[in-house]
Amino acid sequence: MAADTSAVVDEAARRHDTWPTATAALGRLLTATAFLAADAKHGSVTVRLAGDGPLGGAVAVGEADGRLRGYVGEPHVDLPLNAAGKLDVGGAVGRQGFLYVTYQPERGRPYTGSVPLASGEVGDDVSEFLRRSAQRPAAVGVGVLVGPGGEVRAAGGLLVEVLPGALDELGADVEANLERIGSISRLVEAGAGPRELAAEALRGWSWRIEGEPLPLRFRCSCSRERVEAALLALGEDELRGMEAEGRAEVRCHFCNARYTFTREELARLAAQAAAAGG
Ligand code: ZN
Repeated sequence: MAADTSAVVDEAARRHDTWPTATAALGRLLTATAFLAADAKHGSVTVRLAGDGPLGGAVAVGEADGRLRGYVGEPHVDLPLNAAGKLDVGGAVGRQGFLYVTYQPERGRPYTGSVPLASGEVGDDVSEFLRRSAQRPAAVGVGVLVGPGGEVRAAGGLLVEVLPGALDELGADVEANLERIGSISRLVEAGAGPRELAAEALRGWSWRIEGEPLPLRFRCSCSRERVEAALLALGEDELRGMEAEGRAEVRCHFCNARYTFTREELARLAAQAAAAGG
């Protein structure tokens, strides 16, 4: 699988006002989540990075239809570049901790798998998850290029899995190709789309595209109705307290949308909660 997630990551960074290292961490996570969600084919996949770094964790949710949303614990993280001259995502995420992946099928119970973080660089961690939790030898490469002004210049990724029975030379060539590519985000910045990324990864072999392309977009599932339902669940007392304060603002973690409620609206919700509570 290959993806250009530039627009998704750009919107995520704007919504959450992330600083460069946090932008890269969130962007890589969104890109890897897009792969896992597309791969699951239905329902949704939630990927959570729980590391001990200054980022304070990160969460992304991908729907099988290409909708993505996500956030980081602390958006204002900008660390010095690492020894390789790249954004220090591993330093921001932290190297101690876990990666959790929760699959929510359309019907039925969710199930969660986890692995200890491999490096906190996201791509390695998701590769490790696929290898250990799903016994799938897959390489996940994800990258975000952040410009000098903090803007997202490009983002994208590749997930390459050599299926059982494939020739050994294929695996070796793909590995060498990925090594040669180096930075996926630089290729995307230079104009490569998913097709060109796949061609680079599979250079030397003939290949074709299976399945339909999936349009990816940053899209949250929150709405005023859902926020009202959550407020109603707080119960009458809590709502009367908020009414007394005069105004309430609810912020969606996933997309940073703000929902404000006036005193009159809070009074109406409190009355509704009272009626529902009997
Ligand atoms: Zn939202």
